Amino acid sequence: TPSEDETDIHELDEDTVARIAAGEVVERPASAVKELVENSLDADAKSVDVTVEAGGTERIRVADDGRGMSEAGVRAAVREHTTSKIDGLEDLESGVATLGFRGEALHTIGSVSRLTIRSRPRDAAGAGTELTYEGGDVVSVEPTGCPDGTIVEVEDLFYNTPARRKFLKTTATEFAHVNRVVTRYALANPEVAVSLTHDGREVFSTTGQDDLQAAVLAVYGREVASSMIPVETDGDELPPGPLDAVSGLVSHPEVNRSSRDYLATYVNGRAVTADAVREGIMGAYGTQLGGDRYPFVTLFLEVPGEAVDVNVHPRKREVRFDDDDAVRRQVDAAVESALLEHGLLRSRAPRG
Ligand code: ADP
Ligand code: MG
Repeated sequence: TPSEDETDIHELDEDTVARIAAGEVVERPASAVKELVENSLDADAKSVDVTVEAGGTERIRVADDGRGMSEAGVRAAVREHTTSKIDGLEDLESGVATLGFRGEALHTIGSVSRLTIRSRPRDAAGAGTELTYEGGDVVSVEPTGCPDGTIVEVEDLFYNTPARRKFLKTTATEFAHVNRVVTRYALANPEVAVSLTHDGREVFSTTGQDDLQAAVLAVYGREVASSMIPVETDGDELPPGPLDAVSGLVSHPEVNRSSRDYLATYVNGRAVTADAVREGIMGAYGTQLGGDRYPFVTLFLEVPGEAVDVNVHPRKREVRFDDDDAVRRQVDAAVESALLEHGLLRSRAPRG
């Protein structure tokens, strides 16, 4: 037994701390893809190209034509808790418009992979910068020729955390997660040309022409796109509740799948899942859908900041509303009226 001034409690070394933290932010390739795509969108990119190999386990590459970074910017970007997006807590309380703000994504992804960043600030004279980073350390920083914007490559994710690497699923499963993430952002940002390529094969690419219907066509194909029905309801048409507006596209009841993956729902532009929203959607379809069948849905909800907690954990996509019941009724009503208008529902007695 240790005497009074001896103890088993000791400080962890920096690398161990970083890898533990990384496990909380980067669960799998799709979580790294999410962070990189958010950075590209935050940098005002008009095009974002995502390329992955082996479901992202071997390589992830996200190339954008956004704002880019100077050499000092690239160096700063991989340091812990560095961000250009907020200055302090007051910025959070006033509701930040950016997707990421914790300043930890690049640092943490880089601590569990081999990371390369190539970047050139928009309209800058001269070369760009290439920084390589391995297991949390800067390996090299060199000038390089590159287009305006930023290319981030993540190789061998979890190469130095074998336990986590072991938990990765099959290539197909990991790619399904990547696909869902990129699809969500492509549908939420039809004004950005988003492409996804897996093992050399292009899975989809949107045009960036700011047309949701066209983005749905690019992502899900013709059968689904041609069945989509517009939902367009604002405040006074909705039952009482916190939502100011519900808009987007929902599929014909006959066009459905056995997975929830195709329910793409957004709150104030952020891809989230919420039980109340899903239940509202499913309530609107009612018995038109068989058990365990789900429609294709791309639905945007607008809600005043104070009615929902947006300051969610980076990995949490689940949100709660102050008044879940009212949100459920509002979503149900918005989707139901769109389906009814297209003669796709047997009208039913109003529920109490
Ligand atoms: P956060 O996004 O939370 O600020 P990150 O670690 O993801 O933290 O990125 C750190 C910083 O690096 C960002 O604040 C931004 O200034 C810069 N950065 C990251 N990715 C890009 C990109 N694709 N284009 C331009 N700047 C970027
Ligand atoms: Mg970020």
